Formats: sequence, C-alpha cells, structure tokens
Amino acid sequence: MACNNRLHFILVPLMCPGHLLPMVDLARILAGRGVAVTLVTTPANADRFRSTILRAVHSGLDIRLHEIVFPSSDFGLPEGCENIDALPSMDLMMNFLNAARTLRDPLGKFIEQVSPRPAGVISDKYLDWTAEVALNSGIPRILFDGMSCLTQVCTHNLLVSKAHEGLSGSAVVVIPGLPKNLEFRKSQLPGILNPGKNPDWQKAREEIFALAEGAYGMIVNTFEGLESDYVKSLKEMKGGKVWCVGPLSLCNKDVVDMVERGSKKSAACNEHLLPLMSWLDSQAENSVLYVCLGSLNRLLPEQMKELGFGLEASGRPFIWVIRGANKGEEFEEWLREGGYEERVSGRGFLIRGWAPQVLILSHRAVGGFLTHCGWNSSLEGISAGLPMVTWPLFAEQFFNEKVIVQISGVGVSVGAKLMIHLGEEEDHGVTITRDDVKDAVEEVMNEKGAVMRDRAKKLGEMARKALVTSGSSYNDLTMFLQDMAKDP
Ligand code: UDP
Repeated sequence: MACNNRLHFILVPLMCPGHLLPMVDLARILAGRGVAVTLVTTPANADRFRSTILRAVHSGLDIRLHEIVFPSSDFGLPEGCENIDALPSMDLMMNFLNAARTLRDPLGKFIEQVSPRPAGVISDKYLDWTAEVALNSGIPRILFDGMSCLTQVCTHNLLVSKAHEGLSGSAVVVIPGLPKNLEFRKSQLPGILNPGKNPDWQKAREEIFALAEGAYGMIVNTFEGLESDYVKSLKEMKGGKVWCVGPLSLCNKDVVDMVERGSKKSAACNEHLLPLMSWLDSQAENSVLYVCLGSLNRLLPEQMKELGFGLEASGRPFIWVIRGANKGEEFEEWLREGGYEERVSGRGFLIRGWAPQVLILSHRAVGGFLTHCGWNSSLEGISAGLPMVTWPLFAEQFFNEKVIVQISGVGVSVGAKLMIHLGEEEDHGVTITRDDVKDAVEEVMNEKGAVMRDRAKKLGEMARKALVTSGSSYNDLTMFLQDMAKDP
C-alpha cells in the first residue's frame, strides 16, 4: 500500500510514438482519478510531451516527470537519437534496446527514494528489464502492452498450440480456441510467430514475451464493446488481472493537446496548422480521406508512388501524411519534379513530418481513414467514428485489421497478404497496386459505404461512452485502482 493512503504509479513507456503517446494519455487519465503519477523517460522524449504535462499539472493533476540520460552514442546511435522513430536504420533496433537497458539501475534507485512509495510500476512490455527493477523494489510490475486483446489471445493460442509451425508463408492458419473463425496467412502473423531475418531481435522478442508472463497484471488500451469475446478470454487467461481502459487517446479534448500530441513542436510553431485547418474547413462534410501509415513506416518509393497514384485516381480529396519514406529524396523528387504535387494541388493536402492525427480525424470534413492498422491509429479511427481503408504493414497489424474489417465491419482491406518486417522493405517490391488502393477507397467513400459509416459512427459513440462514469473502461480503471490499493 502506498504511503499517505495515496497511490503513486511509476510509468515507463517504450520510446516510440505508438507506445509513448498512449502512456502519456494513461498518465493523465490515472491522475484524473486522483492518484499520483511519475512518467520516467529520457530528456529528448520528455521534450515531446512536456507542455502537455505542464498543462495537466496546471489543471490540478499530480503528474511528475523524471528524466534519465540516454547514452545514444555509447551504443552506436546518432547523438540525440532517443526514440525508435529517429533510428536511421531499423538494423539499429538492438542497439536501441540495449541502450534503453542502461535505464535499469537509475530507475531502481529512483524508485527506492521517491515519495510516496510507488504502488506499482506500469511499464511497456518491451522494456523487459523493468521486471527486475520491480522485483528488487518489492512492487508489482503491470504491463502496458499497447496491443488489443484479440492480438494477445491469438498470439497466446498459437504459441501454445503451435498450429502455425512448419507451415509455408502462404498457408492459411486458423487460430485455435476462438469463439469465431479467424484465418490468417502464416506470412501475416506478427514477428514472434513469423520471425524476420534478424536472429538477435527474435531472441530478444522471446525473452520479452517470457518476462511478460511474470507480470502482476496488464493494462490494455481497448474497450469492452469493441472486442468483448477477446476481452473475456484474456481476462480468463490472466486470472482477471487485465484492465481494459481505452481508448486512451480520447482524453485529448482540447485542441492544443490534440495538436501537440507527439509533436516536437508547440502548437504555435506548427506551420501546417492554419493552412491545414482552413483547407479542411473548405471541404464538404465526410468528403476527405485521411491517409497516414504511422510513425515508423519505411516503405520503398515504388510502393509509396502506387499509393499516390491510387489516391489520385480515386478523385477524392485527401490528406496524405508523408514521413520517413525509405529513400526519401528519390520519393520527394517524384512528388515535386515528377509533377504529382502539382497534379493533385487543391485536392490533395500533403503533410511532411508529424501530423496532428487526432485533431484531423475529429474534423467534420474527414470521412475516411486509410491506415496501416497500428493499434493506436485503429482505435483513433474507431473513436472518431470513421470507416477505414486497411493496409497492415508490420507487427500485429493484420490482427488489428481483423478487428476493423471482420469483427466491427467498419473497414475495407486493400488486400495486403504479407507482413513486411521493419528494416526488410528492400526484400519486397510493390505488393499493393494503385488499383488496390483506388478500389478500397472507392468502397469506403462512396454512397454504398453508408451502412459502414453508420456502423462506424455507432462504434465511435460506444468508445466515448466506455470512458465516462460507469462506462466499461471507467469501471475497469476503478477495479485496477482498488486492486492496487489492497495490502499485498
Ligand atoms: N501519429 C501522429 N502523427 C503522425 C503519425 C503518427 O499523431 O504523423 C500518432 C498516431 O495518432 C498514433 C501513433 O502516432 O497515436 C502511432 O501509433 P500506431 O500504433 O498507430 O502506429 P505505429 O506508429 O506504432 O506504427
């Protein structure tokens, strides 16, 4: 039990937008329930959400920031590279995780002396060394895995049954032990079940999964109404110590919070913002497709061009977030000198760099979202009540596509057949054509998509209701806090 009858949690996010952003949201939601929260991260990452935290503190929330130096250059990383989205190459992933491991001892010392004594450390699954810190400090480790319940259940059932082992990439795998039939190609399964070329990364993954098993419990960014069968299964599997408290991004209600979420710049210095908002304001309701493939995408220029041609051929207004393309200069040349930008001028709004995604998704003119099915983006599309075009790329994104397309019926797939491991994009040429993109966009944005749009709207309402008093996510958070307040 924490001192002063006041619960205090230490939150340690993985330094990567898709893991960091929901943890910052979680910090604000927890603090909003009257507990104290300390977010532990490195200086460059703290700079990305410092102003959000300051605003939360001014509004009366007890959130603190504790920064630990990240030794980038000692591990062969560029100076100041403290986030996975800043890695010059995904071949440096292990260097990054090893550098992150040096936070272990300073974190342990901090937990020893901080007051009130923490009731638990809520840490990202991929920071497996936090298990040892929690054990040595005598406090529980609660996992924040950042993935859906469906992903956890499917992964667990396959790891136990080994139903996928020995199959070829194109073979169909039926996930055993599920209430409904879910099928995938072996080549669509996440890395733990379908390893890439780097054996070190696979070994690290296996260790991470093994250490996750020993955690006290798990906080999941999802809501009951979205994937109730899988919420139930995961809770049963983990003896009830699973708390579904999402969608976390819905805590961003103020425009400034939405604009600054994940951005390195303050809202005032965001040069896209005014032109973007006035362009969106000039568009008809539900007419614009928002296109973003997440924070880590490194698709090759040939593949990005097919996406561009497909958007052009769709004839719809669109916002396209272009960031981190592999061989970015070649792609830029195509956009500028190749005449693309000129051809779509007025109809296509290109954002280079970081987009205020949750703000854009909430605009009345946006009527669809072409997403790579990162779990955060999937939830953000669902929360905004939008139908989606799904193009899963890597990690567990094919599982997320199932939640959107098959389970919720709010999306149309572009038809991706294989997972492209981060860093292995060069091994694959064009897997999705301009026609695949155009056809899926058409299905989502035309009048026939009205039924799906209606369903998406209702799902969005359900998401918002989950977070208000007595909603399922609100109640799960209450149960989590009650559990943590018990004497060990
Ligand atoms: N995001 C954003 N602007 C961008 C790119 C990404 O705000 O230009 C946010 C997005 O809203 C989401 C997160 O970054 O919260 C990406 O996480 P996700 O799980 O969707 O995908 P990942 O980037 O991990 O592949």
